Amino acid sequence: MNTYEIIKKKRDGQPLSKGEIDYLINGFTLGDIPDYQMAAFLMAVYFRGMQPSECVDLTMSIVGSGSTIDLSSIKGFTVDKHSTGGVGDKTTLVLAPLVASCGAVVAKMTGRELGHTGGTADKFESIPGMQMSFSKEQFVEIANRIQVSIIAQTETLTPADKLIYALRNVTATVDAIPLIASSIMSKKLAAGADGIVLDVKTGAGAFMPDYADAVALAKTMVSIGEGAGRKCTAYLTGMAQPLGYAIGNAVEVREAIDALTGAGPSDLQELVIALGAEMLILAGIAESRTDAAQLLHNSLTTGKAAQKFQALIEAQGGNPDVVQNPDLLPQAKQQVALKSDQTGFVQKINALEAGMAAKLLGAGRQTKEQEIDLSIGIVLKKKVGDSVEPGEILALLYTDGDQVKIEQARQRLLGAYTIGPDHPSTGRLIQARVAVNSIEEYGA
Ligand code: URA
Repeated sequence: MNTYEIIKKKRDGQPLSKGEIDYLINGFTLGDIPDYQMAAFLMAVYFRGMQPSECVDLTMSIVGSGSTIDLSSIKGFTVDKHSTGGVGDKTTLVLAPLVASCGAVVAKMTGRELGHTGGTADKFESIPGMQMSFSKEQFVEIANRIQVSIIAQTETLTPADKLIYALRNVTATVDAIPLIASSIMSKKLAAGADGIVLDVKTGAGAFMPDYADAVALAKTMVSIGEGAGRKCTAYLTGMAQPLGYAIGNAVEVREAIDALTGAGPSDLQELVIALGAEMLILAGIAESRTDAAQLLHNSLTTGKAAQKFQALIEAQGGNPDVVQNPDLLPQAKQQVALKSDQTGFVQKINALEAGMAAKLLGAGRQTKEQEIDLSIGIVLKKKVGDSVEPGEILALLYTDGDQVKIEQARQRLLGAYTIGPDHPSTGRLIQARVAVNSIEEYGA
């Protein structure tokens, strides 16, 4: 076997064997295959694609490049959920304790910010004392004790993905379905859950903005998950505008607490119920989506979900009192109002631009090592369909008082809003459900 022949085979549109894919991934991870050959291979995949079996082989080869987490000592069916990345996406903060409070075990590995999207690990860390990095043994122990445990991604998991991702980033090969699917699914499979529910975002703030591409990505990921022996389904959900109102870290935790205590935004609630119902069905706790939704609603209204969130915070070293008193979360130095100079209805809020505005304000990292001020963020006051008068507040910026950052973020966020005379349709949040052999489409 040699690397040149493998690249040539893919360049010519031929499928690769498992042995060839393993050879390439192992060689690259060990440093025996240079970046230029891997870059050529990635570009060949970009243009030629991969068959479903090759996608499974590529994913499993990436899984094999590092350690995995063995969840077999956890009692019960473990479920995980993964979003392909969105703006204001605090879903995991609500979903994990909620689903656990209904009897499933949620043992989940979660990431940090990527591009314009925030990271769930960073959001959790805005809870005073909350630890997101600990040993695999502790991870399993907490999941067994309270049915929910969330850990930040570890360095030893899927090292090949890290290397390949860095190369894709600089060779214009990020947006290739087999490469995104294997990157995400390798991490999900290495993290060990029995069932995986995928939230594939579509729309301006999504990684795959185009609906048809997002469907293809969802199908590929589901077939990889099922091919690897896991139960897996995906929802296509809209990311044309940010989810909920808050974008940042502490501000998103506050909104998640609102959602867990029954006072959250309706789009977040709708998403959490849809994904949560799917997780309960995969775990065998509910038979139908209606039954599952009922269980989830009960848990929210009786306070069981909020109590589970407190238990999770306490188990991971955080202060559970934040649930009763969200003012214990980091507080920004200054709030600045972004006001409208137009009259009409909000037609659009470009989620990508809104995410970038939060990042410019300081809610995200400019360099890998940078510490984030977790109090910084944006809270939208107007969303698509809302009426606006001149002088009305569109959003509040939670800032550290840095005027340069405030001005940059203000301009960017103002540019994200489109205001016009007609009342727009808000569009559907949940657009499709993809299972291994079926797709239900609900419209955009
Ligand atoms: N998230 C990942 O982890 N990998 C990708 O390729 C895209 C999004």
